[in-house]
Amino acid sequence: MLNTAAIVALMKNSGLFSVTDLNIQTIGQLFSLASQFKHSFVRHKQFLRRNESLSYKSVALVFFESSTRTRFSFEMACNRLGIRPVTFIANSTTSIKKGETALDTLLNLHAVQPDAFIIRSDEDEGVREFFKTSQKPCISAGYGKFHHPTQALLDAFTIKERLGEIKGKKIVFIGDVRHSRVAHSNKSLLLALGAEVAICSPKDFMPSPSEWGEVENFEQLTSALDWCDVAMSLRVQKERHSTKADLSNFIQNYQLNKKSIGSLSDKAIIMHPGPFVVDEEITRDIVKDSRTVIHQQVENGVYVRAALLQKVLGDR
Ligand code: ASP
Repeated sequence: MLNTAAIVALMKNSGLFSVTDLNIQTIGQLFSLASQFKHSFVRHKQFLRRNESLSYKSVALVFFESSTRTRFSFEMACNRLGIRPVTFIANSTTSIKKGETALDTLLNLHAVQPDAFIIRSDEDEGVREFFKTSQKPCISAGYGKFHHPTQALLDAFTIKERLGEIKGKKIVFIGDVRHSRVAHSNKSLLLALGAEVAICSPKDFMPSPSEWGEVENFEQLTSALDWCDVAMSLRVQKERHSTKADLSNFIQNYQLNKKSIGSLSDKAIIMHPGPFVVDEEITRDIVKDSRTVIHQQVENGVYVRAALLQKVLGDR
């Protein structure tokens, strides 16, 4: 078993690319640190455990894909820890427009020597290479269709907070599982933490059995909602589709709306990683439902990401 110092050293070198980089002990430490940050923020409007050694650190947030929650919560986490975030968004005002590759962009930003990187990109061999070879720790803020480790951490943290524990809880992913990095990362993390997972997806959105094994696929949304403790709705990831999806069939059979959630228990929770598209995978009624924890997920993202930054960059 690794001791805390060894874990910190490990994370200092490697950062976080995939949930499989984490062991159970590290996840427990991150959740306990995140809870401490949350309690102190709720009571004192600041992180009392703020570590002065972080005040001189700078973190480069490098986003080759669009983001709202992940970028904003990482920036907020940096601010509350006293870290200075510097954000690069690959838009038409950068040298990406002139033909510079993502890897060359990262290597140039590396030359400026931030203390760590937070990177979001589509599948890109150069970016993957940078994660492996960077002298500075790199944290994934989402990579391609398979990896979004900090979203999985904040979702698991929220489930634990709302339902008391993760072990034995039943989570169903509803919708476009195949193209969702959130679903892939959540599935690996939640199974490792002892949860049961299932999907409820149309054929075109079902993940590959080689990735998901024999996980149950509920054909009827009603049965899925009757079974679960957590219903996680997923956006239709059109930007990753090669052919046009049959949206009307999807809406008719898989949308969460006032009528379709009739079989969901009062004790269950409804999650969504955002961004949600109203009247596609979810309706406004569901956003307002008392079982819905979407904004709690977003808030917890700050505490969980702060815990990770503290682990990666702090002295402890
Ligand atoms: N924000 C999440 C992601 O980056 C989910 C989504 O875009 O639907 O994967």
